[in-house]
Amino acid sequence: MLEVADLSVAYGPIVALRQASLVLEEGEIVTVIGANGAGKSTLLRTICGILRPRSGSIRLEGQEIGGRPSSDLVRRGIALVPEGRHVFAEMTVRENLDLGAYYRRDGAAVARDLEHVLETFPILREKIRLSGGGLSGGQQQMLAIGRALMSRPRLLMLDEPSLGLAPAIVQQLGRIIRDLNAAGTTVLLVEQNARMALRLAHRGYVLATGRVTRTGTGAALLADPAVQESYLGGLAA
Ligand code: ATP
Repeated sequence: MLEVADLSVAYGPIVALRQASLVLEEGEIVTVIGANGAGKSTLLRTICGILRPRSGSIRLEGQEIGGRPSSDLVRRGIALVPEGRHVFAEMTVRENLDLGAYYRRDGAAVARDLEHVLETFPILREKIRLSGGGLSGGQQQMLAIGRALMSRPRLLMLDEPSLGLAPAIVQQLGRIIRDLNAAGTTVLLVEQNARMALRLAHRGYVLATGRVTRTGTGAALLADPAVQESYLGGLAA
């Protein structure tokens, strides 16, 4: 579905991605793990058109999409749940969700998708008239995911969704990601919480200072001593 090949991205003189390559097959959950500053967010921001590649290619179903505007990529079915959620604090939960459907003109299907999002996240139904800023961190994460789902993505990209959330909420989030995937959404998950991410993912990539240094199934990476040492606190999974 998505093929990233030899992708390099820089912020002026700072090179954040160095010839990174990865592949996502339709129906997979793929994770990219790595330390702070490894280039994970840069990868997602480039795939969804916020940043331009310096070199390399990004192909969606065989078509080059590198450097295309975000609006175009949303229409093609790519949605990003950004790090830090970026919920609009002054807007209501409903208004935040409606924004996710901004580019859609299929009103009846949008209404069905809204109902589906509210079934997936009952707490959002309860709080639908409240402002986004009044939600807890976990609820804001649900809202950010719900907003992304309102664009009806085929590829959902999540940037550090577990950041700052209590362990029970992280578990709930894991179940939600698994359910969305089972319902047909391909998922690209970026996480510093490597254990959670590798348990959830079919396959993973390790990113270190902008380079892909390892790849394998989630189970294989969890069992890899070098991954355990660097990303799992040295403990056997
Ligand atoms: P984090 O988990 O902290 O978000 P990350 O793996 O997502 O880390 P990136 O945010 O992609 O890493 O950052 C990769 C590199 O690019 C880092 O060296 C970072 O300092 C640099 N960088 C990121 N954003 C910018 C920016 N707007 N301007 C300049 N340098 C940046």
